[in-house]
Amino acid sequence: MKKKSTKYIFVVGGVMSGIGKGVASSSIGTILKARGLNVTTIKIDPYINVDAGTMNPTEHGEVFVLSDGLETDQDMGNYERFLDAKLTSINYMTTGSVYMEVIRKERNLEYKGKNVQVVPDIPLEVIKRIKKAAEKADADVVIIEIGGTVGEYENILFLEAIRLMKQEHGEDIATVMVSYLPVPGSIGEMKTKPTQHASRTLNSAGVFPDIILARAVMPLDEKRKQKIATFCGVRIENVISAPDVESIYDVPINFEKDGLSEKLCKILGLKKPQVSNLKEWASFAKQSKNAEKEVKIAIVGKYFNSGEFILSDVYISVLEAIKFSAYSLNVKPVITYISAKDFEKGESLEILKGFDGLLVPGGFGESGIEGKIQVIKYARENKIPYFGLCYGMQLMVIEYARNVLGMKDANTSEINPNAKNLVIDIMPEQKEKIENNNYGATMRLGTYPAYLRKGSIAEEAYGTQNIEERHRHRYEVNPKYHIKFTEGGLVFSGVSPDRRLMEIAELSREVHPFMLGTQFHPEFLARPLRPHPLFTAFIKACSVVKK
Ligand code: GLN
Repeated sequence: MKKKSTKYIFVVGGVMSGIGKGVASSSIGTILKARGLNVTTIKIDPYINVDAGTMNPTEHGEVFVLSDGLETDQDMGNYERFLDAKLTSINYMTTGSVYMEVIRKERNLEYKGKNVQVVPDIPLEVIKRIKKAAEKADADVVIIEIGGTVGEYENILFLEAIRLMKQEHGEDIATVMVSYLPVPGSIGEMKTKPTQHASRTLNSAGVFPDIILARAVMPLDEKRKQKIATFCGVRIENVISAPDVESIYDVPINFEKDGLSEKLCKILGLKKPQVSNLKEWASFAKQSKNAEKEVKIAIVGKYFNSGEFILSDVYISVLEAIKFSAYSLNVKPVITYISAKDFEKGESLEILKGFDGLLVPGGFGESGIEGKIQVIKYARENKIPYFGLCYGMQLMVIEYARNVLGMKDANTSEINPNAKNLVIDIMPEQKEKIENNNYGATMRLGTYPAYLRKGSIAEEAYGTQNIEERHRHRYEVNPKYHIKFTEGGLVFSGVSPDRRLMEIAELSREVHPFMLGTQFHPEFLARPLRPHPLFTAFIKACSVVKK
C-alpha cells in the first residue's frame, strides 16, 4: 500500500504575540476538518520550561491538561475545543523538552559517538516529533503552531525545522504567517511596514510565507492587500483579511468567506477534498448570539492582575465551558471576575447578591483563600448556586467543616499543616515529591475514572454512573473525615474506583439549589458542540433560581 503523503501547515507569528495565532491555527484545523480531512495539531512553545506546569498563570495564562497528563499551554485547549479532538503529549513540545530528549539520547550513546550539534540535531528532533504525531493520528494534515514571533532568538531553531522539512517535502508544506497591522491613533491609517519587516525576517531564516493572515481591528482594504502582496512576495489572493470579531467561533466562518480552505488545499496539492460542511459549526456560532435572557456568573479567583491589566486568559477553559452550556440552554452568560483578595481587605460580600451563580476555579497556595471561603459561605447561606473546581471543591469542604460541622480551624495542609483538622491533606504519594522539591509534572495529572452515586445531582447531570475526567492536584479530602462529612450532610457523590479519593462533593437539593464541587477539572472536557453536563446543570440552576 502506498504510504499516504501527509501535508504540513506551519503557523508563525509576525510583529507581535497575542494576536490570535492559536485561534487562527484552530480555525484552519476546523475548516480543513469540515472538508473531511483528518487533521491534527501541534503547539511548539519556545521556552526552556519542559512543560507549562511550573509556570505561574499570571506569566503564561491557563495551564491546560491533556488526557495523558501533560501540562501545556492554553492553545492546546483551543485546539481540542475547535477540533473536538483528544490530543496527547506528542502534540506539544517546548524548547526544554526537545533539548532534554536530545541530551538524554546523547548520554545513551544513541548518536553513536557523533558530534551532537544545535543545528541540525535540535530541528531534526523537532521534525521527528512532528512526523510521529502525524503517524499517530494518521493525519492528512498536521498544523504546527510555533509560539512567539519571528525574529525572536527563541524560535529560530523551529524556523530551521520548517526549512529542513521543506527541503525534503517541498510540496507538502505550507507556511502561514499571522501578522498584525496596527492603526496608530495619531495617524488613523493602517500600517503594513511591520508586516513587511516580519516577512523579511522570516525570509532570512530561509522560510517564505504562502499565506499572510492580516490581523487588525478592521478589515484590510485592497490597497494594503496589494502592498503586502508586493513587499512580502505572496500572491494577492493569499493575503487574507482577519479583522477582530465578536466571537472567536466566527473565525472559521470568516476564513471560509475568503475561501481559505480551498486556497490551502491548492497550495498543498490536496486533491478532491469534500465540499466544506461547516453547518453544525455555523449554527453553534449563530446560537451563541441568539440568547437574550442573561445569566450573571461571578468567577472568584486570584490570578487576574498583570500590572494595570486584567488577565482573563487564566481561566479560559472555565469561561468557554460556561459559554457552551449557556448557549445550549439559550441564555446569555455575563461573566464578571472578582478578586477573592478584595474580601480579605474588607470589601463587603453584598456585591455577590447581584449574581445568579458563583464559581471558584482551581488554584494554588495561600493568597485569596480566606476570601474564597467567605464567598463560599455566602453562596451556601444565601442559596446562590455554587460550582467549585478543584481548589474550589477543597475550599467548599473546608467551609462546610468550619461553619456547619463546627471544626473552626479546619484547613488544608497546603496552607496550614499544623491545623488540628486537616480536612484536606496531601496525598501520601505526593508527600515525598514535595519534600524533595520534585515539582515538575508530579501532581495527580490527566484522566482518571470516577464512580457516581445513584440519585445524586452529579449522576442526574451526567446520565451515567461511570465517568472519566482530567485532574491536576496534590491534595485530597482527608479519608479520616469521610464519615464525619457524610454524617454531617455533605454528599460525596463521585469517588475513585477504589473509593479512597473523593471526586465530587455536593449538597442535597433539599438544602441548596446547587452546591457542588469537583476534585477534577470538568472545564477541560467542555466542547462547543458537546457542552459539559456539570456546567450545564450549574447554569440551569443559575437561570432557574434567577428572580
Ligand atoms: N492546590 C490544590 C491541590 O494541589 C488544588 C489544585 C487545583 O485547583 N488545580 O490539590
